[in-house]
Amino acid sequence: MRTKFIFVTGGVLSSLGKGLSAAAIGALLEARGLRVGNIKMDPYINVDPGTMSPYQHGEVFVTEDGAETDLDLGHYERFVGRPTGKRNNFTTGRVYQAVIERERRGEYLGRTVQVIPHITDEIKRLVLSGTEDVDVAIIEVGGTVGDIESLPFLEAIRQLKSDIGVGNVLYVHVTLVPYIRAAGELKTKPTQHSVKDLLSIGIQPDMLLCRCEGDLDRDIRQKIAGFCNVGIDDVIAAPDVDNIYRLPLVFHDQGLDDRILRQLGIWAAQPRLERWQAYMERAERPRRRARIGIVGKYVHLTDTYKSLNEALAHGANANEAKVELVFVDSEELTSENVAARLAGMDGILIPGGFGNRGIEGKIVAVAYARTQSVPFFGICLGMQVACIELLRNVAGLADANSTEFCRSAHPVVDLMVDQRDVTEKGGTMRLGAWPCTLAEGSRARAIYGVERISERHRHRYEINPDYHQQLKDHGMRISGTSPDGRLVEMVELRDHPYFVACQFHPEFKSRPLEPHPLFSAFISAALSSSTRREPAA
Ligand code: GLN
Repeated sequence: MRTKFIFVTGGVLSSLGKGLSAAAIGALLEARGLRVGNIKMDPYINVDPGTMSPYQHGEVFVTEDGAETDLDLGHYERFVGRPTGKRNNFTTGRVYQAVIERERRGEYLGRTVQVIPHITDEIKRLVLSGTEDVDVAIIEVGGTVGDIESLPFLEAIRQLKSDIGVGNVLYVHVTLVPYIRAAGELKTKPTQHSVKDLLSIGIQPDMLLCRCEGDLDRDIRQKIAGFCNVGIDDVIAAPDVDNIYRLPLVFHDQGLDDRILRQLGIWAAQPRLERWQAYMERAERPRRRARIGIVGKYVHLTDTYKSLNEALAHGANANEAKVELVFVDSEELTSENVAARLAGMDGILIPGGFGNRGIEGKIVAVAYARTQSVPFFGICLGMQVACIELLRNVAGLADANSTEFCRSAHPVVDLMVDQRDVTEKGGTMRLGAWPCTLAEGSRARAIYGVERISERHRHRYEINPDYHQQLKDHGMRISGTSPDGRLVEMVELRDHPYFVACQFHPEFKSRPLEPHPLFSAFISAALSSSTRREPAA
């Protein structure tokens, strides 16, 4: 079967959940046995989001092949089984860079290089080459129709319809149908205007996903269909949902997957949605609750920890539990207030992070978890501070530290020797999937149930080999290493109910239908250590 294309655009305003919608469509088509691939095209000029502030942009998602991408790729991976990679996310910056490099090499033979056709051709090339091996490609255009920045992308997807052929391309437009309280009614005007904007650049949407608070009744659907030249069955409500994993089911109930297949001329079996249903049934009726304290820096913006929050929800779901996340700002934690601030947590998690702000607070949190026997999970920076804490407070190396934060007589966390000469930021990161060997008899080995694992990394610093022995001497077990034994990938405390930390980011590989074992195990430990365990309200 030749690849069919679904282009997803957004109208009216941002934050309508376009990425989630694209992911949920993917989940439905995959449940019908189709090979689905998602691409996100981002209209900003940064070449990749790796250097963008998580304050502005949310989480940087890392793929198997080490691409630092938009967080929407995280949604795609969680909803669609297929791993994404470098080819699944590109920005205006990447497109221009390729075209300018080609121009410098003289490949345009002296012609004037222009947005149309050269930039649009490069966009089309990236779309086509990134989706060769799938049945259905779902391509999300970042930004909102009407933005200056999105225009070349919209022009490219407009052209693709005639390039690929009518019947192989479907345009889905995500829009807003607000409820105006004073008038007591849903308003279709923003949708009409947004579709008009799309039409003015030559794109007639085939299907509308209408974000709304509740449902859309038949009259409203009829009205939108009439004004926007789509069939009434192609007006799909995308209501606010209490749990994002309900979306595939909500869309399926309105016949979305059937409509897509009919319009694209694809025959496929009915979808198998049992596992999504089972997930939602467990989510609706949790038997227990766990309260997890996340001690971090970017605590006021939960998008910063998107994959982490989702992985915790998956882990809780696997335990038929509900997780309550309490974000604790590490800059405000001191040894005086830590007991009060962290009281009542069933587990403490320190996520990844960069820079020295809030580090001392994180060390205080580790000390609390270690001495009070509270289940602890350290991820990346969280593992590094766990090692620093142990050597400071147990081994007595008072100034143990990471060279990321300061020069120290005891650089427990440091760049590896072969990295030290490279100073250019961004160049020395350990990125993407790396193999790891788990020690026989360790908790990590029991949790994973296998000896060899592969996990995704995004960091520069490592546990300094000069301190491996001291860590072991003071109660820490090095439970995971790189296969050559050189790099510490996982540690755990011997005399503690549950204290596990890893140098990698397991959250990137957790899926609702395949919860990550480290998250399931952590939640399970938090549930059994809990003194406040109570049945769900
Ligand atoms: N800042 C640390 C490093 O670069 C940890 C990074 C992280 O937590 N992702 O090694």
